[in-house]
Amino acid sequence: MDNEIKGIIFDIQSFSVHDGPGCRTTIFMNGCPLRCEWCANPESWVLKKHIMFSQTNCRFEKGCKLCEDVCEYGGLNLKNNELELNWDICKSCETFECSSVCYYNALKVCGKEYKVSDLIKILNRDSHSWSREGGVTFSGGEPFFQSEFLINTLKECKKNYFHTAIETTAYVNNVTFLEVFKYIDFAFIDLKHMDREKHKQKTGVYNDLILNNIELLANSNWNGRLVLRMPVIRDFNDTYENIMNIIWFMKENNLVEINILPFHRLGESKWRQLGKEYKYKNEGPTSSKKLYEIQNLFLENNIACYIGHDTLF
Ligand code: SF4
Ligand code: SF4
Repeated sequence: MDNEIKGIIFDIQSFSVHDGPGCRTTIFMNGCPLRCEWCANPESWVLKKHIMFSQTNCRFEKGCKLCEDVCEYGGLNLKNNELELNWDICKSCETFECSSVCYYNALKVCGKEYKVSDLIKILNRDSHSWSREGGVTFSGGEPFFQSEFLINTLKECKKNYFHTAIETTAYVNNVTFLEVFKYIDFAFIDLKHMDREKHKQKTGVYNDLILNNIELLANSNWNGRLVLRMPVIRDFNDTYENIMNIIWFMKENNLVEINILPFHRLGESKWRQLGKEYKYKNEGPTSSKKLYEIQNLFLENNIACYIGHDTLF
């Protein structure tokens, strides 16, 4: 076991109440093999520190030029009296001098290195405010993207008797997947579409590995609790055919709980701050009618279906 091994984390939220039982600390880990078009955390995708730029916070037009004076790489452009980042240059920046002089929080570095021992210190501190069922949740990004760091942290969590949860895409090799689950008590596993081609179109990867890992887990002697999770994306996975395919898959594997998440645009500004184009800017939230329709299909088939934050812990 290595307490000195380092991982990259982009956020740590204490007092989380929707990421597993009780009051918890959620650790958001960098790196993800998927590229979901609606992703609410696109800042998690790369496994390295990187810059984010908020045009809204920038005071360039009010005369601030602090960042211009320190960037030596040509990372900043002036366009229509607004500051823009030259993303081709900024993507490979490793020093981020600009962020250290931006007092308006327009330029921020995303991602920070932590050792396993650093995280355990934070979790021990937070554990005093967890409820009896509470603990730690590993989220992201995709926690499996840093699997060595994850396994080492989980082993230390178990030494400290922490309840452990994970929010994962399950897109990882079978061996690593099952090894990690030895140390997991509760899991949300995403299932975005049953059709492999459609899954690839919107997430960038086929779903074979994901389905295979869910089946392996469901048929193993793991004694934790598994809730599948599906973000509801209009005209993609909200069709009768897809929901029925999920139901058959769940029944075959004796899975009895799913959490459906209404589409929202809360991640949109982050896409802008990363210089990326967001395809769903004209898409509204999922209607209650559609959510209840989907929920009813699951309920009629004896599968508990929780909408949004309503998962019963
Ligand atoms: S230092 Fe920050 S606020 Fe000032 S011009 Fe640069 S990005 Fe904008
Ligand atoms: S991220 Fe690096 S290259 Fe980009 S503006 Fe900041 S200092 Fe310059």
